[in-house]
Amino acid sequence: MKVYFDTIGCRLNQSEIEKMASQARANGHELVARAAQADVVIINTCAVTLAASSDSRMKIRQAARAGRARIIATGCYATIAPEEVGKLPQVSDIICNQEKDNLIQGILGKPAAGGEPAASARVPLPGRQHRTRAFIKVQDGCDNFCTFCITRIARGRSVSQPKEEIYRDIGAALKGGVKEIVLTGVNLGSWGRDKASSGTLVDLIKGIIADFSPSRLRLSSLEPWDIDENFLEVLTLPGFCRHLHLPLQSGSQGVLQRMGRRNTPQDFLNLLEMIRKAAPDIAITTDIMVGFPGETEAEFEEGLEFVRSLNLAGGHVFNFSLRPGTPAERFPDRIPPAVRKERSERMRAVVESSRLAYHSGFSGKVAQVLWEQAIADNGIWQVEGLTDNYLRIRAEAETNLQNELSDVLLLESRSSFVAGKILPGKK
Ligand code: SF4
Repeated sequence: MKVYFDTIGCRLNQSEIEKMASQARANGHELVARAAQADVVIINTCAVTLAASSDSRMKIRQAARAGRARIIATGCYATIAPEEVGKLPQVSDIICNQEKDNLIQGILGKPAAGGEPAASARVPLPGRQHRTRAFIKVQDGCDNFCTFCITRIARGRSVSQPKEEIYRDIGAALKGGVKEIVLTGVNLGSWGRDKASSGTLVDLIKGIIADFSPSRLRLSSLEPWDIDENFLEVLTLPGFCRHLHLPLQSGSQGVLQRMGRRNTPQDFLNLLEMIRKAAPDIAITTDIMVGFPGETEAEFEEGLEFVRSLNLAGGHVFNFSLRPGTPAERFPDRIPPAVRKERSERMRAVVESSRLAYHSGFSGKVAQVLWEQAIADNGIWQVEGLTDNYLRIRAEAETNLQNELSDVLLLESRSSFVAGKILPGKK
């Protein structure tokens, strides 16, 4: 069958769709670059915010308009709102997150004999640019109870992927040519807790670096309370990316309590001090939610000043989004949209000025860059990529350096990137 894959939302969704694509290929199905060419379209949906659910519906409608394919909807939105998804055009199957792993086998099965052998190298989806990094699912679900969160409802309790499977996926990704491995999950820090023999996330990281020596190993989001002293060990391992994304959500003690978060602002501050002592140049980024029910002006100001004091390397600011079935859906004192908008603009300004300050601190230093894009431009190449501590760098090169690593002298910091000069060696 001709199959088209698409996804919305987080890195976990991305890693799942790529894995399903490898399974479909290994089962002898042909992957196509557009929905119009497909017999079957598989869409991994998202429900983290109201907007994400709406984007999921839009993707399904677009696929339906593109051709006559049957549409299989999976992912968080399909899991929490199957009735709504069932009313969308050409949707033939709705597969909840808990059944997702069997989707390819269960729905597509194997075509007639003569399929291509099991894919040993992970390759990009058709029509997508060859990528420099691969998202590897190591964990799913969550055992925490943040009161605003729909993800834990859509994905269930925390489940760790077996180490053998993680290793198989990493092997396939590196064989496919990527230089950076990104470990991802819903609550990454809880890896191994549900499987007595597995060890911890720190053990997994140390094992991957020892057994694969990847050029780069990056972590996706980590809950702050999942980091202890033992974790500091990995910060200086070869190839470990000095970037931690630690969702704070709010800088106000009162709001954090109503959110059901397991840390206080002071805990977060202590954690950053401990991490920065072990890795001074590390990039700490975060997620902040403004406009949580009951958030007073004083609590917002308290949070704003707290975030300003953290010297973050960047972050995402979200407006509180009411999610069905979450405890916060029943909380009183909702914040009017205009106030939420005004608060998120002020919080974004603070996070942005911290990001610029962090970036400009590297002018004159040398860093290794993994080039993601290369555009030919009158005999030279305009290249763009990321350092391990998530600085976005642009430079000129003599050759196409996409998916290559270069040492770069960092020059002046601009609004969205840092200009650089590639040093002799990889030009
Ligand atoms: S830690 Fe909280 S916000 Fe994160 S997935 Fe779990 S319940 Fe949701």
